[in-house]
Amino acid sequence: MNSPEPDRYAVVGHPIRHSRSPLIHGMFAGQAGDRLTYDLIDAAPDEFESVVREFFESGGKGLNVTVPHKRAAYRLSEHIGQEAALAQAVNTLSIEHDSIRGDNTDGIGFMRDLTVNLKQSVAGRRVLILGAGGAARGIVGPLLGGEPSELWLANRTVERAYDLRKEFLGLGEIIVSSFEDLGKLPPFSIVINATSAGLKGEQPAFPGTLLTPGSFCYDLAYGADDTPFVAWARAHGAGQAEQGWGMLVEQAAESYLIWRGHRPDTSAVLATLVN
Ligand code: NDP
Repeated sequence: MNSPEPDRYAVVGHPIRHSRSPLIHGMFAGQAGDRLTYDLIDAAPDEFESVVREFFESGGKGLNVTVPHKRAAYRLSEHIGQEAALAQAVNTLSIEHDSIRGDNTDGIGFMRDLTVNLKQSVAGRRVLILGAGGAARGIVGPLLGGEPSELWLANRTVERAYDLRKEFLGLGEIIVSSFEDLGKLPPFSIVINATSAGLKGEQPAFPGTLLTPGSFCYDLAYGADDTPFVAWARAHGAGQAEQGWGMLVEQAAESYLIWRGHRPDTSAVLATLVN
């Protein structure tokens, strides 16, 4: 008797070739003895919707969605999870009752890395998020839930930060700043980089006055060497600066849970990735 085809999963983005998601999901599958494949799909924005529909119509089980498609994934989802509805951004697609379901696991993945792996508490701390794209939308709600004393949001295009603020008004106060005005602000206890500038090797000229030796910096981006933001944070005296490897693994584990019904052990996978 022929054994059934392995279940198919993939991550869709543009560009996508450097993604570690196939490696991570391969390790998760190995832990559980799950038979599955996990591919990379490079889709330009005008191809995204047709690529997704074709994937599911041909029997694919689940997709991760990354830059720049998270808003588009939100728009095409027929059922939406609570976090995705709040963020208006989707990073995990699956099939529910023959329709496409969109979830957002970025926020929970980020908070697990911050609070469980890195043992940081948000309560009572002044927090600054740089960037107001899909990833920022995913982490704003959970951060507000952590009850910071103040949550600031700065973005290159400041109007996008104001739009985001308006959408989250019911959950708590967000104070918006332009990049230009960051130099006028007192230092922050937690500074989070949610811009994609580093993906292009760029680092906006943020003022060093944002940091003190007590500042904890977190870059959602990650790389083999220090990311430009982590290098900036270290150069300007932050007490601790971390890359987003832990978030990557934790958000992937939450996607895996949605797709397969069990949550993988993340610690071993994270250790393999960063060593
Ligand atoms: P989006 O494309 O949705 O948003 C990009 C954001 O970066 C916008 O705020 C944009 O500002 C800003 N930006 C882009 N280029 C520059 C620049 N040169 N200078 C200043 N700001 C810039 O991307 P995402 O929000 O989805 O992703 C953001 C980052 O988070 C990426 O590096 C991504 O890899 C990382 N990420 C990591 C995850 C993890 O698991 N570790 C999960 C999700 C994301 P503007 O509005 O002005 O265009």
